[in-house]
Amino acid sequence: MLRPALDIVVSALEQIREQSDRTPSASREIVAQLFQSPTRVPTQSRNDPLQQLAAEVFSCTRCPHLVRSRTQTVFGVGNPDADLMFVGEAPGADEDSQGEPFVGRAGQLLTRIIETMGFSRENVYIANVLKCRPDTPAGTSGNRAPTPVEMQTCLPYLRRQIETIQPKVLVALGAVAVEGLLGTRGAMREMRGRWHSFNETPLMITYHPAYLLRNQSPSEKRKVWEDMLLVLERLGSPISARQRNYFL
Ligand code: SF4
Repeated sequence: MLRPALDIVVSALEQIREQSDRTPSASREIVAQLFQSPTRVPTQSRNDPLQQLAAEVFSCTRCPHLVRSRTQTVFGVGNPDADLMFVGEAPGADEDSQGEPFVGRAGQLLTRIIETMGFSRENVYIANVLKCRPDTPAGTSGNRAPTPVEMQTCLPYLRRQIETIQPKVLVALGAVAVEGLLGTRGAMREMRGRWHSFNETPLMITYHPAYLLRNQSPSEKRKVWEDMLLVLERLGSPISARQRNYFL
C-alpha cells in the first residue's frame, strides 16, 4: 500500500505543529510540486512492521536541523528477510536525492562486493545508522559524518529494523557506523576482521567502501575481501576457489 507524498508531508507538518511552538509552513511552489510529484511513500501497515517503521521514519522530526536540510529520509533497501545486512553511517548527497542508501561511488563498490560474494542488492539488506543526511553549511559541497548525538537519536529505528529483519550476520562499514552501533570508537585495524556482537547478532566490522576509494592499496582491498570471506563462512555459503583468491 502506498500513498502520495503530499499526504505524508501534511501529517508531518501537523506533527511539527503539535510538538513545537513554531508554525510549520510550506510554500505554494512546494505544495504545487507535491501535487505533481511521482514520489510514493509507504503507508503504515499493521501487517508489515518494516513498512510501518519506514512510515514512522519518513515523518520523523527528532532532529529539527536535519529535517530542515534533508530532501527525504533514507530508510533502507533490500530483502526484509535477508540473512545478511550491511550498515553504514549516514546518507550522503546522492542517497539524500535518490532516497536509497549506498548509491554513489562508494555504493557502487559495495554493490560489487555484494555481487562478488554471490548475492545481489535485492537479497541482502542495506541501511545506515542515520536515516537523514547530516547537514552541511550552505554553499559547501561534500558530506559530513554524523555526530554521536545524532546517531544515538536515530539508533532506535535501526535497532527495530534489525529486530524485524533478524539477519544472521551484520556487517558494519567503517568506524563511524561501529560507533553508532556499539557506542565505542576504536582503531579500524584492531576492530576489523574479528567477530563482535550487536544485541546477540554476529557483527563483522570492515572498512567503509569510501575508504577503499581513497586508498587504492591492494592490501587494504584484500582485507575487506578477507572480512567478507569470514562472513560467507559464518553464513554457511559455499566459497569457490575463485572467490578465495579474489582481490577487490
Ligand atoms: S536522523 Fe533519524 S532521528 Fe533524526 S530526524 Fe532523521 S530519522 Fe529522525
